[in-house]
Amino acid sequence: MSVSIGTPFTDTAKKVLLCGSGELGKEVVIELQRYGVEVIALDAYADAPAMQVADRSHIVSMLDAEELRRVIKLEKPDIVVPEVEAIATDVLAEFEQAKACTIIPTARATQLTMNREGIRRLAAEELGLKTSPFAFAETEVEFERAVQTIGMPCVVKPIMSSSGKGQSTIQSDEDISRAWAYAQEGGRAGKGKVIVEGFVAFDYEITQLTVRHSGGTSFCDPIGHVQVSGDYRESWQPQPMSEKARGKALRYSQSITDALGGWGVFGVELFIIGDEVLFSEVSPRPHDTGMVTMISQDLSQFALHARAILGLPIPQIRQVGPSASHVILVEGDSTGVSFGNLNNALGAPDTQLRLFGKPGVAGQRRMGVALGRGDSIIDARDKASRVSAAVTVSM
Ligand code: AMP
Repeated sequence: MSVSIGTPFTDTAKKVLLCGSGELGKEVVIELQRYGVEVIALDAYADAPAMQVADRSHIVSMLDAEELRRVIKLEKPDIVVPEVEAIATDVLAEFEQAKACTIIPTARATQLTMNREGIRRLAAEELGLKTSPFAFAETEVEFERAVQTIGMPCVVKPIMSSSGKGQSTIQSDEDISRAWAYAQEGGRAGKGKVIVEGFVAFDYEITQLTVRHSGGTSFCDPIGHVQVSGDYRESWQPQPMSEKARGKALRYSQSITDALGGWGVFGVELFIIGDEVLFSEVSPRPHDTGMVTMISQDLSQFALHARAILGLPIPQIRQVGPSASHVILVEGDSTGVSFGNLNNALGAPDTQLRLFGKPGVAGQRRMGVALGRGDSIIDARDKASRVSAAVTVSM
């Protein structure tokens, strides 16, 4: 199938509507703009990172079905690209069914992955992928029963959550009621169902970036990462793996992404114990730990996503050496954060910095990422963490 891209702001324009305007979306917009795509960015707040580089934007609650329907009808995009889970996904299904636009990767994939229950049941029960033992609970009584069934230690997460929100680990009986209360506060949709998972004492965890595109499925080298309280802090590529574990990771990634279908990048999260692989979850879009690919690959995960969704070819993906990312977390309360000491921070070769331009911080927020490439993973991690540490923050 031959792909054509027209001229922005004319009848021939290829129009992409981005649902969610965070730092990952910002990079996707930049990559789409390189092909002359007209991009419209949505989010619930003004001046979000991707809005700053899109052709125009709308401030809407994407969980509000009426609002989302109105904006899609107004903009008439060719392609809708979800950047977050919190979207009225039934509206996406309506437009897909009416063949009004393409949903990336598919409306069903966005429906299944917005909810931990949907994706976990698909992986474990339909596809037979190994996962940690799990149970769901809707009430505190059910929750206590689920904890007893799964056993301690176990990890509790709201089914509608990401980035560690509402997530905690239960070590002993004293933690149980606190974990329930915390999960009820931290869910995206307010109070609700939780998943209780057996705690996995993994050797390491990886993100297997997987690209479904017009020519088939391609895989990036595995990305290792460190999470604190369920939130990513550092990642690196390539993560060394045994041949057996690598083979299983690829089979699991192929299986879950085939089941979700469509085109685009997927971040398949896997836990590795020796040669064993457990499926954890999958994002049907670029992954935060995949920011390392901005320095570690010839085509970053964002460039790959843009190519895949436009129907363009993905030739061999080239990994260009041991590389790492280290987030810049800011804590405080400000709408005018400034970053300093940048000359020092970026003085070393093979380092890069992205500042997301987020309009404010209240509490703790990821505001940038430092990237480094080196002779080894240790060297690359060291470079990235030095850049991150050197950046000063004033507010
Ligand atoms: P998630 O939002 O499900 O990706 O969880 C965030 C992070 O929490 C993971 O990347 C792991 O580091 C940790 N985590 C989540 N579930 C488990 C588990 N069952 N056992 C051990 N660690 C976990």
